[in-house]
Amino acid sequence: MKKPKMVKVWNKNILDYEENFKGQKIVIPAGKHIVMERAEAVEFKGKFRQPVYNKGGVQEISSLKKIVIEPIIEDEADFVNEESTTPKHTCMKCGFNAPNAKQLAAHVRSNHLADMEDEKARKELIKGL
Ligand SMILES: [Zn+2]
Repeated sequence: MKKPKMVKVWNKNILDYEENFKGQKIVIPAGKHIVMERAEAVEFKGKFRQPVYNKGGVQEISSLKKIVIEPIIEDEADFVNEESTTPKHTCMKCGFNAPNAKQLAAHVRSNHLADMEDEKARKELIKGL
């Protein structure tokens, strides 16, 4: 199942923004954002809000809808997660952390081959590398 694209919905006004949207009261504090599904956010942003004017004909700040949609870069988040869950290539002998299997093999080859007393095991290791 494809997960819906989420976006940040910013309230760029200096007052908290409140609106009844699809039977739900949406509140975005001044200068803050909430997270919404993209399709919902676009609809929310596009929904007309009746402007309120003061006696001088200037629109009341409280009736301004200053909504900005900002995409969330999900690939970036996934990448970070993936990085942190990648199994570590750690040397069993000294605990050295190699960035990948190839480098770990190179590390073992140059640092620990001499430590191996059992000649047969060493040969097997070399073969395996
Ligand atoms: Zn090592």
